[in-house]
Amino acid sequence: MLVYHLPGTFETREAHLDLLWQAGATGLEERTGVIRAYFDEETELAADIRDGEWRREADQDWLAEFKANLRPVQAGRVTIVPPWLRAEVLAEQTALVIEPGMAFGTGHHATTRMAVEALSDLDLTAQTVLDVGTGSGVLAIAAALLGAPYALGVDIDPITIPIAQENAELNGVPTGRAVFLEGTLGDDLPGDVVPDGVYDVLVANLYAELHDLLAGEYVSHLRPGGPLVLTGILTSKLPLVLEALDREGFTAVQVREDGEWALVTARA
Ligand code: SAM
Repeated sequence: MLVYHLPGTFETREAHLDLLWQAGATGLEERTGVIRAYFDEETELAADIRDGEWRREADQDWLAEFKANLRPVQAGRVTIVPPWLRAEVLAEQTALVIEPGMAFGTGHHATTRMAVEALSDLDLTAQTVLDVGTGSGVLAIAAALLGAPYALGVDIDPITIPIAQENAELNGVPTGRAVFLEGTLGDDLPGDVVPDGVYDVLVANLYAELHDLLAGEYVSHLRPGGPLVLTGILTSKLPLVLEALDREGFTAVQVREDGEWALVTARA
């Protein structure tokens, strides 16, 4: 990899960035007082940017580096791991294996971890679970591993469905116990695949505005008294969600926070 190191920052060298692009840079990056310009070959540079230095650097495999840095994530009774760390899960923990990939939900985001923790606090044996915005399938799979006989994960993004199905297989969840479908709740959103279903538990890692919009749907898809687990909520937007739950008559509302993220549990 050929990198031209130019002293300065994007701000101090703003007028010179175009000169780098014109010289054939394929990418620019700023790191601690140095602009790194990536090139395929050394080229003649304009006088204003000749105070830098050409360097050949070892190619970096970002994906390999990302994977090497992944650690197991403990969430209540569950430990979420990539496939190659399965052996690190303690015997008393339930291993939830997720292949890091294109869909959100490796367990490394606070919202996913809090949601798995909240599911782990429930007794899910004999409980059906609806997971809205399933992504990697992590929450529906967690529910199945924690004893739920049926978990349905829906997502508006079709790319997530085969990914979630593969993750369920990785965990040995029998087909039919964790089911994934393209869809959502509500008439005004596309792909309404679960219009009539009523579930014992509903979990959704979305965002505050969508929870506000879907709060009425949550009521109609939950059995009376059934637990609701909502996350993806920035703490600054908690009031919006709390007002929506109050409006729809949810009770036993509780909030957990982790940094800027919040999780809300309630009963229908
Ligand atoms: N459930 C996973 C987790 O907890 O890590 C993934 C959550 S990710 C933050 C949100 C997911 O919701 C994305 O996969 C996105 O495609 C999906 N989504 C966004 N809007 C949606 C909607 N209206 N209905 C269903 N899914 C939606």
